[in-house]
Amino acid sequence: MADEPIEALGYKTPLQFANTPYMDKLASMGVTGRMKTVPDGFHPGSEVANLAVLGYDLSQVYEGRGVLEAASIGVDLAPDEMAMRCNLICVKGSILKNHSAGHISTEEADELIRFLEEKLGSDRVRFHTGVSYRHLLVIRNGNKDVDCTPPHDVPLHPFRPLLVKAKTAEAEETADLLNTLILQSQELLKDHPINRRRLAEGKDPANSIWPWSPGYRPAMQTMQELYGFERGSVISAVDLIRGIGVYAGLQNIPVEGATGLYDTNYEGKARAAIEALKTNNFVYLHIEASDEAGHEGDVKLKVKTIEALDHRAIRIIYEEVKQWDEPVTIAVLPDHPTPCAIRTHTNQPVPFLIYRPGIIPDAVSHYDEDAVKEGKYGVLEGDSFIRLLLDKN
Ligand SMILES: [Zn+2]
Repeated sequence: MADEPIEALGYKTPLQFANTPYMDKLASMGVTGRMKTVPDGFHPGSEVANLAVLGYDLSQVYEGRGVLEAASIGVDLAPDEMAMRCNLICVKGSILKNHSAGHISTEEADELIRFLEEKLGSDRVRFHTGVSYRHLLVIRNGNKDVDCTPPHDVPLHPFRPLLVKAKTAEAEETADLLNTLILQSQELLKDHPINRRRLAEGKDPANSIWPWSPGYRPAMQTMQELYGFERGSVISAVDLIRGIGVYAGLQNIPVEGATGLYDTNYEGKARAAIEALKTNNFVYLHIEASDEAGHEGDVKLKVKTIEALDHRAIRIIYEEVKQWDEPVTIAVLPDHPTPCAIRTHTNQPVPFLIYRPGIIPDAVSHYDEDAVKEGKYGVLEGDSFIRLLLDKN
C-alpha cells in the first residue's frame, strides 16, 4: 500500500489520493507512526517484512523462503534437513527464459514434481509440490552456505554462469549436488508429455528446476510464548505468510475466494477475521492486492485496492467490533512499500496506525506516508510495534 508521490495523482501517493474514511477515522482516534519493517542488511522481501511486523528478530530466525513455504504445505523439517524454494522454470537453449514456466498450473506442475521425485528422489533428496511454479526441495545434510540466484532477477540471462556456488569449502558437496539435480532435471523434463503438450499449445515448457533460498527449520518461538496470549490466527492467500503463521503458532484460516489479487474476497476475509476474534486473542489479516498493483505499476488499480481495503475490509471489521463489550485493538500497516514507479519492494519505513477504545489519540487525523510522520511514535524498530499493538510495553 505504501508508495511515493506520483505525478499523475498531483504528486500525492496512492494512499493520500485514495478515499479512505475508515483508515483516517481510526488514525484520528488512535496513535500513529512509522515502522522499519526491513532491518538493515536484509532485502525487502515479503517474508522479511512480515516476520519483522510480528516482532521477530530477523538475524535470529531468518532461514529463507523454502522453510516458510514448507510449513505452509505441511512439510515438517527434521533438524538435519535443508529446505529450498524450487522453481519450475523455462530454459531455452542456454538461456533462462522465465522464472515461472509461463505461470504453469499447479495441476501440471504436480505431475512434473512427482515425476522428478520418482526419478531423482532418494533418502537425501525430496521434492514436494507447492503452488503453480513454486515448489520445495529438501536435502538431508545439506549445507546452506551456497550462493543461489533468485530466478525472477535474471530473465533472459544464460543460466550456466548462475548455477549454485559454494560459499565455503564445506558447502561444495551441496553445491555440486544441486547443480547435478538441475542438469538432470533438464534431461528428464525436456521430453515429458506435459511439456510436449505445452509446447504444442504455444506455452512455455517447465523444463528445469531452479532451487534457491536455502535454510534450516527456523528457531522461532510462538507468539503465544513471546507475548503470553492464548490463541492467534492468520488469514492470507500468500503461502509465505501462512508458513510464518505455522512457526509463530497462528492457526491458518482459509477463506473461499481469497486470491491474493484485486479480485480477492475482501468481505469474506473481513468476516473471517471477525469470526476468529470471537475466540482468538490475535488475528493477522493480510491483503496482498495493493502489492500486486504496485508490481504492475498500475496507479489507478492501486488506488482502487486501497479504497477496497478501507471500504470492504476495515469498515466491516470496525463497524462490527465497536459494538462488542470486549474491546478490540485495530492496527493497520503495509508490510513494505511497493512503489508503482519502480514496480518492486523498497526498504522505506511504512506508516502505521493503532486504535483501541479509550486510547489517547495523537494529533494525526489522516493515515498516509506523510501524515504519520507527525505521529506519536516516530520510527519503531524490532518488536516495539507488536508490543505496542498487544499493549505489552
Ligand atoms: Zn510484492
